[in-house]
Amino acid sequence: MSELSKAVFVGSDGYRKAAFGQNHPLAISRVETVYDLSKMLDWLPADRFEQSPTATVDDLIRFHARDYVEALAEADVVGSVSSGHREKYCFGTMENPYFPGVFDRASLSVGGSIRAAEIAATGRVAYHPSGGTHHGRPDHASGFCYFNDPVFAVLTLLDRGVSRVAYIDLDAHHGDGVQDAFNDNDRVWTVSTHEAGRWPYTGLRDDNGGGRSLNLPVPAGFNDSELQFLMIETILPFLEVASPDALVITTGADALSGDPLSKLDLSNVGLCSAVMTLVRTYPSAVVLGGGGYNPWTLARCWTSLWGMLAGFEIPDQLPQTAVCRLNALDCDLVDEEDVLPNWNTTLLDTPNHGPISDHVTELARAYKLRAST
Ligand SMILES: [Zn+2]
Repeated sequence: MSELSKAVFVGSDGYRKAAFGQNHPLAISRVETVYDLSKMLDWLPADRFEQSPTATVDDLIRFHARDYVEALAEADVVGSVSSGHREKYCFGTMENPYFPGVFDRASLSVGGSIRAAEIAATGRVAYHPSGGTHHGRPDHASGFCYFNDPVFAVLTLLDRGVSRVAYIDLDAHHGDGVQDAFNDNDRVWTVSTHEAGRWPYTGLRDDNGGGRSLNLPVPAGFNDSELQFLMIETILPFLEVASPDALVITTGADALSGDPLSKLDLSNVGLCSAVMTLVRTYPSAVVLGGGGYNPWTLARCWTSLWGMLAGFEIPDQLPQTAVCRLNALDCDLVDEEDVLPNWNTTLLDTPNHGPISDHVTELARAYKLRAST
């Protein structure tokens, strides 16, 4: 068992309910596969699992506007969204659709992140893969996110006496909602690696959020060696200056090779290793999920990450029950012939080492220049 052997998984069967309707990139099996695989591997003993509570309206209005929270709750009662609300709150659209239970589900992910932060504030790692809705805005939905659960994780850590928090976002998209939420809070520092030129098109290299943000827009094809290079050359030195007492990490599986909505090329070994480096350095940590639109690469990565955080040994080959579970996955955005055979039989990828591109070298050089002035 590792030094992180007291890591806790925060989850709920509430995520088994169908969500997002049809024809939406998130209408795939996600966290429920992670639970199932973890259970099949005996990685969820009772003392490692914590039931996710649901955030109350009073919790939610700490960051979100009351009228927006009430509009989302009302939609669940009446079963639809009025055109006025659709326009005002960007909700009930193709991007952020209405589906039955949407309010409860969004509130559940906030409740889980609050609970995870309460655990992390005691010096432990709390893993809440259902969290990571980093685009949510105070008064409207954005980028498939209704509420912003990472914001609540940060706020809860601050409430519990943590003096400074760093938010690290490794998703393929810029963690815009979280960075903007804490622009004026000098106890919160943010880091985001994301694919350059991709929605929401913010998080440019020179955007330093008033001095407490580090943005690393990386090129398509971004590999494990490049992430490791940026970790050593920019992220860890930035954190040393920030000197946080706790971290909140968003581990978007859309940064992995094989994701249909982005073009980064990390292996799950590369992404998980980055998270492990962070939590070994700062062991009070909330580790969240995030985006991820390939159900195989997402499930393998987030299950592996739980195994590593909790100190379990990751098997070379999965047991037959787990192979059947992965075989049963389906995704409109991934062609059948593109499903690699090892996606159904193993957890860990082969690491994707490669050259450090000029683009990535330049990010490190620009950071050093900034740090020296
Ligand atoms: Zn994303």
